[in-house]
Amino acid sequence: MPTPSVRVRFAPSPTGYLHVGGLRTALYNYLFARRNNGTFVLRIEDTDQSRKVEGAVENLIETLRWAGIEYDEGPGREGDCGPYTQSQRLAIYEEHARKLIDTGHAYYCFCSPERLEQVRQKQIAMKLPPAYDRHCRDLPIDAVRRRREAGEATVIRMKVPVGGETTFEDLIRGTVTIAHKVLDDQVIVKSDGFPTYHLAVVVDDHLMNISHVIRGEEWLPSTPKHIMLYQYFGWEVPRFAHLPLLLNPDKTKLSKRQGDVAVEDYRKKGYLKEAIINFVAFLGWNPGDEREIFTLEQLIQ
Ligand code: GLU
Ligand code: ZN
Repeated sequence: MPTPSVRVRFAPSPTGYLHVGGLRTALYNYLFARRNNGTFVLRIEDTDQSRKVEGAVENLIETLRWAGIEYDEGPGREGDCGPYTQSQRLAIYEEHARKLIDTGHAYYCFCSPERLEQVRQKQIAMKLPPAYDRHCRDLPIDAVRRRREAGEATVIRMKVPVGGETTFEDLIRGTVTIAHKVLDDQVIVKSDGFPTYHLAVVVDDHLMNISHVIRGEEWLPSTPKHIMLYQYFGWEVPRFAHLPLLLNPDKTKLSKRQGDVAVEDYRKKGYLKEAIINFVAFLGWNPGDEREIFTLEQLIQ
């Protein structure tokens, strides 16, 4: 059997600058692709309209190029799986959301923000973890049709099994098990018709033939929901590798408040790209000997 080809992706949300944690994720994906004669895809995850920043995509692409991290497919380098910008793929997500509704794996939720807030307050008062109460999960089909035709605002939620758990092998973390009772019926399409990250990431990783999802650890708790979506669609699940978060010395998440986190900040201060690449490569890796300086070429080997 031929070994399936390695395809990985870096999938940033363009928020204005490239965080050093993002550069590390991009670098690890890039190195993994190069090492395995694979393909490195850049995908722009820009479906959150409220977080849109003018010029952010151009800036991101330019910073990656400056660092020497070249992508094989992505915006401006169209391969067979484009477009590579999520806001240009809305019809694809819509079609897939409809499929989930039709197969009973997702449902329309008409709850107003006020109702959701009341539910939350009640749960907090009862010392329960706040979660959607699945109020709309079993509405009669006719009622749903009537309310939609009447133009009522709605989101689409995926159904998470009430009991049980999901287990998967993470290439970095090992066996991970998450109980379904801690998972919400995740919103997958917002009331503005845009998909949330969770739907878009699964649909795109599948349609772009991604073999290994290498990303930050903050997405580990969402992975069971993603695996469920793969299963609902009847798709093969990719391998997952979650990179440990970059932390400040006081163990809080690396953020702007404690010094520079944007790659551009270092660049502006005159740091060489070689120094920065070497620096982020060593955040979570070492060669097992005394060597401390590696070029991109050496890191691939
Ligand atoms: N858009 C997500 C982010 O900005 C990507 C997460 C993933 O790689 O799945 O972190
Ligand atoms: Zn509802």
